[in-house]
Amino acid sequence: MFGTPIGRLNYDTELLQALERVYGNELQSFLNAISRPSKRLYVRVNILKIDPGALLDILRARGIEVYRDEELSEALYFPVHGPYRVRDVGLRVVADKRASESVMLGSNLYAPGVEDCDPEVRPGSIVTVISPQGDVLAEGVAKMRCEEMKRRGKGLAVEVHKSIYKAPQLRELPEFSAGYFYPQSLPAMYTVHVLNPQPGELIVDMCAAPGGKTGHIVEYSQGLAYTIAFDHSQRKLREMIKEMERLGHLHAVEIWRSDSRYLDVDYPWLKPHRVLVDPPCTALGVRPKLYDRKSYHDVIAAANYQKQFLQVAARIVRSGGVIVYSTCTVTLEENEMVIEEVLRKYRCLEVVETGIRRGSHGLYGDYKDLYIRFHPQVHDTPGYFIAKLVKKC
Ligand code: SAH
Repeated sequence: MFGTPIGRLNYDTELLQALERVYGNELQSFLNAISRPSKRLYVRVNILKIDPGALLDILRARGIEVYRDEELSEALYFPVHGPYRVRDVGLRVVADKRASESVMLGSNLYAPGVEDCDPEVRPGSIVTVISPQGDVLAEGVAKMRCEEMKRRGKGLAVEVHKSIYKAPQLRELPEFSAGYFYPQSLPAMYTVHVLNPQPGELIVDMCAAPGGKTGHIVEYSQGLAYTIAFDHSQRKLREMIKEMERLGHLHAVEIWRSDSRYLDVDYPWLKPHRVLVDPPCTALGVRPKLYDRKSYHDVIAAANYQKQFLQVAARIVRSGGVIVYSTCTVTLEENEMVIEEVLRKYRCLEVVETGIRRGSHGLYGDYKDLYIRFHPQVHDTPGYFIAKLVKKC
C-alpha cells in the first residue's frame, strides 16, 4: 500500500516499476498529484447553444468564480479551493468511493452513496463524512436517520457545509440542465482539436460512451460532420443518449451498439475520413483518486485490448485519413508502445504532429517527439496521452 496525503494507492510492485519507468524520481510527486483534484475544474461550452463569453457572464452573475482558458476558446474553468482542515466530530457517515470523490469537492451526500453510518445519526446531527478507507472528507448536517440512509433509497442524507476541497456543484446549475456545457478535462478537449473533424466528413468514434468527445466532435464541426459513435455497453449508451439529448446533439450523430474490435468485418462499407480511438484504459491519470487498486497485469490486459481497436482503425480509415489515439492513463505500455507496435504491422501508418502547444512530448520510441502527454504533477491536469496518425497509402 502506497500512502499519499489523502489517497491510498494499492499498486503491485511491477506496476510501481512500470510507473517508475515513466516518472523516475518524480514518481512520488505524480502519486501525490493524482490523489488531489486539479486546481482548475474545466467545462467545455456547447458553442452550438451559447457563446462562451455569454455563459461566463451568466455564471458570474450567479456569483460563481469562473474564467476562460488562456488558449481553448470553448473552455471555461472554476478554481478549486483547498485543502481545508475538516474536523472529525465523532459521529460518522461513510460515503462509497464514487460519492466520496464528489463529497471531497463539496457535494452533498445522497442516500444511494451512503455505505455505513453510526446508528445514533438522526436528522439535525452534525456528522463527519468519511471515505471507505477512513479519510475525513467533509462535515455537515444529517437530513435523515442512519437506518434510512442505509436503505439507500432516494434523498439527501447529509448536507455538506465544509469539505477538504471546494468547487461549484456544476450538475446542479440550470445552465447544466439547459445543455450549455459539458464537464470535461482540458486534455480530453485537446483530443478533438487534434482529430480536427471537418464538415461533410465521415467521422467514427470507436469507444464513444458516455459521449464526451462525441459531443465535442459535433460542436467542433458545427454539427456538419457525419459522426457514427460506437460502443458495446448498453448501459453506457443509454447514458450517452441522455447526454446527447441534453446537449441538443441527438440529431447530429448516429449512435450504434457494436463491438468495435470487429467494425471492419461488421461494416465493410465503412471508410471514415477520421477515426477516434479512445479505448478503455487503466485510468491511472484520472484524479482525484481517494483509493485505487491495480496491478501490472491490468496494464498488460488493457494494452492488448487497445491494440485491437487501433488495428481496426488502421483497417477502416480511408487512405489519407487520420486516426487519433488517446488515453487517460500514463504507462508506456498503454500509450507509446501500443502505437509503435501497431505501426510495425501497418506500414501505411505514419505518426504526425498533433499541432497543439500545450503538454509535453511522449516518453518512448522512435516518434516520441510527436506524441503529447499531460502530466498531473507538471501541468496540473489528469495524466493523458494523445497521438495522431495518418494513413499514407
Ligand atoms: N470517449 C468517451 C470515453 C470512452 S471510455 C468519452 O470521451 O466520453 C471507453 C469506452 O469503451 C467505454 O464506454 C466502454 O464501454 C467502451 N468499450 C469497451 N470495449 C469496447 C468494445 N469492444 N467495443 C466498443 N466499445 C467498447
